[in-house]
Amino acid sequence: MPLFATLRFHCSETGKPIDYEVPGDANTLKDLWSRSLLRHCPHCGQVHRFSFRQAYVAGMLTVRSLPQSTE
Ligand SMILES: [Zn+2]
Repeated sequence: MPLFATLRFHCSETGKPIDYEVPGDANTLKDLWSRSLLRHCPHCGQVHRFSFRQAYVAGMLTVRSLPQSTE
């Protein structure tokens, strides 16, 4: 069981990926699963809303791919 789960979503302005770590325990995931989260964007400076579920899946796929892959 990982201590943290990596979420990934993409900035709607620049298209750049943003990674976001959350606690990876089952209760936290269950609580956040159906929610939308707000996150300050380091690329464009705005606050983006994103789906936890979509970002979690994208993060899992990212972690499982080559870690040194370039964007
Ligand atoms: Zn942005």
